[in-house]
Amino acid sequence: MSATVPAPEKTGVRTLRNYVGGRWVDSTSGDVLDVTNPATGEVLARVPLSSKEELDAAARVAREAFGSWRKVSVIERTRWLYDIRQAFTDRLDDIAASITREMGKTYPDAQAEVARSIENIEAACGVPTMMQGKILEGVATAIDAETIRQPVGVVGNIVPFNFPAMVPFWFLPYAVACGNAYILKPSEQVPMTQALMWEIMDEVGGLPAGVINLVNGAVDVVNAMLDSPDIDAISFVGSAKTAAYIYRRSAENGKRVQALGGAKNHMIVMPDALMDKTADNIIGSAFGAAGQRCMAGSVVVAVGDAKGPLFDALIPKVKALNVGDGMEQGVQVGPVVSTTARDRILGMIEKGVDAGATLAVDGRKPGGDPNGAYIGPTIIDGVTPDMEVAQEEIFGPVLTVLHADSLEHAIDIVNGTRYGNGTSIFTESGAAVRRYRADVQVGMIGVNVGVAAPVGFFPFTGWKDSFFGDTHAQAGDAVDFYTRKKTVTTRWFSGGPTGKFFVEQGDTH
Ligand code: NAD
Repeated sequence: MSATVPAPEKTGVRTLRNYVGGRWVDSTSGDVLDVTNPATGEVLARVPLSSKEELDAAARVAREAFGSWRKVSVIERTRWLYDIRQAFTDRLDDIAASITREMGKTYPDAQAEVARSIENIEAACGVPTMMQGKILEGVATAIDAETIRQPVGVVGNIVPFNFPAMVPFWFLPYAVACGNAYILKPSEQVPMTQALMWEIMDEVGGLPAGVINLVNGAVDVVNAMLDSPDIDAISFVGSAKTAAYIYRRSAENGKRVQALGGAKNHMIVMPDALMDKTADNIIGSAFGAAGQRCMAGSVVVAVGDAKGPLFDALIPKVKALNVGDGMEQGVQVGPVVSTTARDRILGMIEKGVDAGATLAVDGRKPGGDPNGAYIGPTIIDGVTPDMEVAQEEIFGPVLTVLHADSLEHAIDIVNGTRYGNGTSIFTESGAAVRRYRADVQVGMIGVNVGVAAPVGFFPFTGWKDSFFGDTHAQAGDAVDFYTRKKTVTTRWFSGGPTGKFFVEQGDTH
């Protein structure tokens, strides 16, 4: 797929650029990848695979910008967020169309994604409150102690393909408002949406050059970020294997790091659940974005005799889902991100069948544009915890179904996987919910809702192999990550020359 950069006028397909030091620059690496529309196979653009040297140069520019940006008042720094919030709101539909074209999710789903980016900008507008320190007066005679927060420095952000607009905005608004300089490496599979959002931010203006920088690329740019002495902290989102690697290498280099990994999210269905509503929620969770969400509900655990009534409600609705190009009205399941991803997902379905599971809904031949990366919604039934399809992330429109004799058994199944991102329970029993939330080793829990990504005003709290680090993304946790604490102990002596202007109380107060 990699080739020498063609002259744009010869191909009609543009090559994306990097944004460094407040202006757009061409990459000098000479390597590019095609960016394709997964609904049609059409080449939309080319993305440069920038070099280590280009990332190092961007990091130096960011380091320089940080020196003055941290001294701009926090109120001013935050005010810039109001401007980009408005600009993204005005251009929401354009950004959503870009997401659908390069990633494949349906247009309404893409609009909701952009709304989540905006929501995170709104949450970050609280930085002047969230960044406040603490003071304790009188910790000893005439002595006060206080903790203040300061920006970390230059922060790097590496993001996945599945939320081209949202995931960078889990980080950028907080990092910038806290006074850091920021460098983004978008996913090389979906770089066009960030190119558009950065064009919009460039039009808005208002930031000193070098505070935000975008360097396109792949592994070389990532490794350069992890090793750069000019970068102080790394925020990563992607698969568990890469997250573990990012965490290790960043930490070895003395950087602060948060690395959000993959997931296998279970939906527990108790026999008393309201099955029709439960089925609707499961469908949204399992097949929305063609199952390519870190919070996709990818496993149902049917407790006791729940499966019969659940399937009666679920299966006809799943069979009726409309698969196609996400830009077309009425389409409910778009393509997956690439034909490579499609073939990997088909391979996982085969593995389930080979291991003895059965297909309650078989979406392997959905029709549609032969150049598109389509898979229809698929339900794999009769899955047992030892099967690969029960343990590993499939990341496609594939729901696996397991049986549990009791809630305790269901909790054991969930806790027996290596991930701990999200889970849901469907029941009318408060006692069952209370037991579930107490004992399940998962960081985000939904009750009678599909696996629920928290709104931007709450942290994104994955556990186990779904998160490597200590401080999470979003809201107050993002401010914790992007600031360092200083603790100051202060005493002012009495008896100085200004003493005559006020009544001195001596060093004992
Ligand atoms: P990925 O791990 O393949 O890629 C993520 C980023 O890492 C990309 O920018 C890529 O260029 C880079 N990268 C990939 N391999 C690398 C390597 N060997 N060395 C250095 N950098 C590398 O993930 P993806 O396929 O783009 O995204 C899907 C994954 O992301 C899924 O596993 C999904 O669950 C996960 N995800 C998790 C969350 C969360 O909040 N936990 C959110 C969204 C996506």
